[in-house]
Amino acid sequence: MAYRRILLAADFSEHGEQVIQRAQELAKKYAAELGIVHVVENVPIMDSSYGPIVPFDIDLSEQMVESARKRLTEIADSLVIPQDRRWVEIGSPKVEIIRIAKEWQADLVVIGSHGRHGIGLLLGSTAASVIHHAECDVLAVRLRR
Ligand code: AMP
Repeated sequence: MAYRRILLAADFSEHGEQVIQRAQELAKKYAAELGIVHVVENVPIMDSSYGPIVPFDIDLSEQMVESARKRLTEIADSLVIPQDRRWVEIGSPKVEIIRIAKEWQADLVVIGSHGRHGIGLLLGSTAASVIHHAECDVLAVRLRR
């Protein structure tokens, strides 16, 4: 079976380069379309006096999305990924990765075994969740510390 649409989940962490390379190799091998998604996390910031503050209520959100777009543009340009296969989403990485994979009808998601959430774990929380819930194949690139 040849993969036709490969979705790369890029978290911009230091290990991300290995995941990017693997996705690129596979896209070439299968002559598949390559897409890229990055999710800007909607994590409440705890403030001791006021309780959780959701950063997306404030200006910070725009700045985070803007810098994520820039970083994604650099990576996507280097991989020659067209504009309509680039996604910057806001929310939970696992939820958004699974949603984009489904909507775009990806047949393979390439993800790191861990990233920012998975330091010290065998399988990061995002990878574990995507493997369990995605409807297509998922390749978890084993990242070593
Ligand atoms: P983690 O759950 O942080 O250990 O991440 C495991 C893998 O999930 C990473 O190597 C990425 O491929 C992917 N991932 C995690 N967070 C994001 C994110 N915010 N946007 C896109 N992909 C992500």
